[in-house]
Amino acid sequence: MKINSLGKKMYGLIEKLYPVCRSITGNGVRDTLKIIGTEIPITVTEVKSGTQVFDWVVPMEWNIEDAYIKNSKGEKLVDFKNNNLHVVNYSIPVRKTVSLKELKEHLFSLPDHPDWIPYRTTYYDEAWGFCLSHSQLLDLKDEQYEVVIDSSLEKGSLIYGELLIKGALTDEVLISTHICHPSMCNDNLSGIAVAACLAEYLSQTKNRYSYRFLFIPGTIGSITWLALNEKKTGKIKHGLVLTGLGDSGSITYKKSRRGNAEIDRVTEYVLKNSGDNYSIIDFYPFGYDERQYCSPGFNLPVGTFMRSPHGKYPEYHTSADNLKFVKSEKLNDSLQKIKSVIEILEGNKTFFSLNPKCEPQLGKRGIYKAMNAVGEDKAKLQMAILWILNLSDGSNSLLDIAEKSSCGFGLIKDASTILLKNKLLKEI
Ligand code: ZN
Repeated sequence: MKINSLGKKMYGLIEKLYPVCRSITGNGVRDTLKIIGTEIPITVTEVKSGTQVFDWVVPMEWNIEDAYIKNSKGEKLVDFKNNNLHVVNYSIPVRKTVSLKELKEHLFSLPDHPDWIPYRTTYYDEAWGFCLSHSQLLDLKDEQYEVVIDSSLEKGSLIYGELLIKGALTDEVLISTHICHPSMCNDNLSGIAVAACLAEYLSQTKNRYSYRFLFIPGTIGSITWLALNEKKTGKIKHGLVLTGLGDSGSITYKKSRRGNAEIDRVTEYVLKNSGDNYSIIDFYPFGYDERQYCSPGFNLPVGTFMRSPHGKYPEYHTSADNLKFVKSEKLNDSLQKIKSVIEILEGNKTFFSLNPKCEPQLGKRGIYKAMNAVGEDKAKLQMAILWILNLSDGSNSLLDIAEKSSCGFGLIKDASTILLKNKLLKEI
């Protein structure tokens, strides 16, 4: 598929997912996974409410049919059916008449952005509330209001989607994205769209690593997966949490807790050589599911790949994170850069030179002739060969050699292929 049509494809998936009212549990998550399942063959796991997962318990399942605020004339002033951000996510059911004063204790707005609706949740605290634009709030008169939240909090399940694409090795690369935010595009849906497109791509290529994709509710989803799959975590050699990949900001990479894991070095290398602006930030224990993967008991080599970091753009967690806020070309740029990271992970092997005592004679092996390159390219390839032969003592990976030589990873990899064919290298 052509590159710009990939951007449109991801944007199209976001358009399909945008109207669904998601949360950390409930039918919105089921519907979301069904839509993702039309793109890639995920398996869906349901974990019962009440299941102990480390220090947490899988919560009651939340579902919602309707919610509104009516004035004394019976006019609906705030309507969940117009925008699912209007209800504080996980609100308990409510049906009563209240004064303006009481109502205001349950209302949330953004005075600095009077036309936007904020996003609020009350997952672990039984409460109810409405979110509305500040201009709507200012219009409310001192009268009685009918408030209805037709929701339910009952025993059910926490649901997540998973896809394992098997490679030559059982060692895994983890790609994780959250699926629990209602109608917002960048924070949530962009990660899902890029992960789905990446999974589709990797299921068509021959891979060295196996790739495990997780589509999970934030925090409780990764805690649940880690609790139920602790034995599998030893296979995870590299990982990325994907989030916020469609806004117009440049790429931000948040390193794993280890700080010097291969995924950290590879991503930094790709961004440094991309020619685009980027920032690299150290791990800190806030953000998305990297908090769980990088908790000290796991300390997995998992970084976070995003564009503008959460909380650093005004549209974050508001109704302005909408279909206009994400751009297909930015989704595609994010996807291509993640593919470059994977390409290097796939090719970043470490070798021993089989002729370490002085340089091998390349001419007699026909290596110069085998180089199809001419002129300057041939000189560069020759240089790359010399670097590999010198540094392949078992302690330098191809990425180390690319960095030390400034030859470029692609060239170093091509040169290593020539040397392997000529039995001058052996993989560790
Ligand atoms: Zn969020």
